[in-house]
Amino acid sequence: TYKGMSYDEMKEVRKKNLNPALVTNFSKPLLIHEGHMQWLFDETGRRYLDLFGGIVTVSVGHCHPKVNEAAKEQLNKLWHTTNIYMHPKIHEFAERITETLPGDLKVVYFVNSGSEANDLAMMMARLYTGSFDIVTLRNAYHGASPYSIGLTAHGTWKFGFANGFGVHNASNPDPYRGLWGGYRDCVVQSVRATESTLEGGECSSAQKYVDQLEEVLSYSIPRGQLAAFFAEPIQGVGGTVQFPLGYLKKAFEKVRAYGGLCVADEVQSGFGRTGDHFWGFEGHDVIPDIVTMAKSIGNGFPLAAVVTTPAIAATMSKALHFNTFGGNPISSAVGISVLDVIKEDKTQENCQVLGPYFLNKLAEIRDKYPIVGDVRGKGLMLGMELVEDKETRQPISPQRMMEVWDGLRDLGVLMGRGGHYGQVLRIKPPMCITKEDVDFAIAVLQQVLDKTCDK
Ligand code: PMP
Repeated sequence: TYKGMSYDEMKEVRKKNLNPALVTNFSKPLLIHEGHMQWLFDETGRRYLDLFGGIVTVSVGHCHPKVNEAAKEQLNKLWHTTNIYMHPKIHEFAERITETLPGDLKVVYFVNSGSEANDLAMMMARLYTGSFDIVTLRNAYHGASPYSIGLTAHGTWKFGFANGFGVHNASNPDPYRGLWGGYRDCVVQSVRATESTLEGGECSSAQKYVDQLEEVLSYSIPRGQLAAFFAEPIQGVGGTVQFPLGYLKKAFEKVRAYGGLCVADEVQSGFGRTGDHFWGFEGHDVIPDIVTMAKSIGNGFPLAAVVTTPAIAATMSKALHFNTFGGNPISSAVGISVLDVIKEDKTQENCQVLGPYFLNKLAEIRDKYPIVGDVRGKGLMLGMELVEDKETRQPISPQRMMEVWDGLRDLGVLMGRGGHYGQVLRIKPPMCITKEDVDFAIAVLQQVLDKTCDK
């Protein structure tokens, strides 16, 4: 039973002593004090099915016994030295991470958060190319540090200072809300088409979005001075946006023709979540020059990394580069055990099997309810977009969205929220969920939507 500070006391502290701009899920925030695998428990002992995993972070399950054991074992041996000495865990972890990556992606820099990873990736790309300008996609989220916030292209997260200096945004290749759409036949592995069923392997809107990217490259960037292009293989915070099939491959080719490096931000899409592949970019048939990763890598432990090629890393060696906690013994021990558990518990396979099952059930819901505009995603990185009107695609009002979101919570299912208008329910659970959990979530969704749509 729960013995800590009361709900009301915490609310006071939150108001007085914590960052007032904290993002809080639901109209009345939950007090969570324990977790086990896909379950979270509040102060009354009530159990919730966690379909958001602390924003796609708890990859193999809350307090997974094997990961906990690895952390405890290391905790009792050695916490920290920084990497000024050799330590077996950081070496083993670096080797294990690179074994999951293709091509020449062999050199690992350990850091502590996704923002830090993207900061470092920006610096690497700029040093390697000798150029400064970077292109990202509108609706992207790449971090909130003063450097990485420039890559993030959501007005909601930005402050009024020169945080975007040297960063340009290209039009978002969003098949549902984008300029040229592209649905029906074009999304990577949605319920409408799969990589294998799509004839020709790409769709016409992909080329239009690439042409628009080229406009940015040729109009906004000083000639021959592109440092990098950043993209999430599937946008996370932006509301589980999948690009039209063929887009990312063509975009990478174009960026390289302009002399820039390609960076895949795998902070949400990595570690087997997309099911078919370990890394999201593999679903697009590309190999980036730099990969950034965080969240799932540590199952909730503050841990992140940048992986690049020896040639790029060599440019970074012109000065000393240091990070006190990056790859520390405990985080490396946790990271290694997460990789073990992904294999042993077959979590990637679970995403591959349950993802399409879940998505097809969501598609049935989309066809039944007037406020469900779209469902999409790959593996266990799914999204459901709510609208006021299916024809006009007008985003659902914030009040109705909150009603649905709270309604799900009241019946014991926690989902995330995202998208430019906060109109997308995000489903990115710990990868250990079961078919029964999916069936439960679908039943709850129907009950909540029945109620909202009846009004
Ligand atoms: N990249 C992506 C794709 C993310 O979703 C996030 C966090 N939501 C980040 C980077 C930044 O990670 P962090 O919050 O650990 O700095």
